[in-house]
Amino acid sequence: MTGKINKLIQEGQSFFLTSHIDPDGDAIGSVFAFAQALEDLGKEAAVYLKDTVPYRYDFLPKPQGLVHTIPDGKYDTVFVLDCGSLFRVGDGHERLAAMGPIVNIDHHDTNDRFGRINLVDTGASSTGEIVYRVLRSMKVDLNYHIAVNLYTAVFTDTGSLRYDNTGIAAFRICEEMVKAGVEPGRVAAMIYENHPKERFLLLGEVLRTLRTYGDDRIAVASVTEDMFRRTGTNREFTDGFVEYIKQIRGVEVAVLIREVGKDLYKISMRGKGTVDVAAACNTFGGGGHKNAAGCRIEGTISEVEKKLLGAFDIQ
Ligand code: 5GP
Ligand code: MN
Repeated sequence: MTGKINKLIQEGQSFFLTSHIDPDGDAIGSVFAFAQALEDLGKEAAVYLKDTVPYRYDFLPKPQGLVHTIPDGKYDTVFVLDCGSLFRVGDGHERLAAMGPIVNIDHHDTNDRFGRINLVDTGASSTGEIVYRVLRSMKVDLNYHIAVNLYTAVFTDTGSLRYDNTGIAAFRICEEMVKAGVEPGRVAAMIYENHPKERFLLLGEVLRTLRTYGDDRIAVASVTEDMFRRTGTNREFTDGFVEYIKQIRGVEVAVLIREVGKDLYKISMRGKGTVDVAAACNTFGGGGHKNAAGCRIEGTISEVEKKLLGAFDIQ
């Protein structure tokens, strides 16, 4: 599969790359690294992210072609990274198929193989790990710009090399990227110790909503538009909140319910290996990985919570 992709890259000249809404470190790092490698090869690489880069990833070197509105035009290949389904790209995803043949590069268990070519490895720690393999097989020079983006992709999607998806490959890639000049302390400081204080005002409000069910096996907290308004924050500031409540002893499923519109909520779920949260989110039309998944559910917040608990047979 990487052979086919190499050929597309060698023979093509113009490429379009994109990833998912609410981009995380893997989405941003893998798409930026890939685009930089294409630019280094003298190719055109347009990068579309529906949302702006969250503040914690703003230190990453950006490729030249980054845009937040989909341009008109045709491309030799459209690369969609870190998306289990095409709609995860957000606004404009329905236009992608007409822009060029889609190559789907991903590691989600629930990937629905939406591409003309599908390079999907559910055993990979991150999409960054797969992009690393592609770039390595092409003998691309992994300069600092590429290295710090790949490092961030692998490092963040493994929860700082802590989660079950952390295999030898993840450590090896990180080692190689450090040899290429990445400073682990600086990256960690930018991602984890660089929050505006408003994040903690919001966290305080969110933690006050914490409730647990089924002998503490399920922990749920919620965040509303009102809380964002009161604390001068937005959804970017909630990144990582669900991981806090996962730290509670006995919790098997941690859930963050975030208001996204009138009677519409975005769910973030995290597990510790005993419950398949991707399967649970899939029953609501979402997906993800066994231990980290998401979906959207309609209803009032208490209806949404009831539906969620129903998925785990807990009232
Ligand atoms: P998060 O809770 O951080 O938004 O997402 C956790 C994981 O689930 C990520 O890998 C993300 O790509 C995936 N995910 C989140 N929301 C959705 C969704 O609505 N649909 C699908 N298919 N995957 C999602
Ligand atoms: Mn990922």
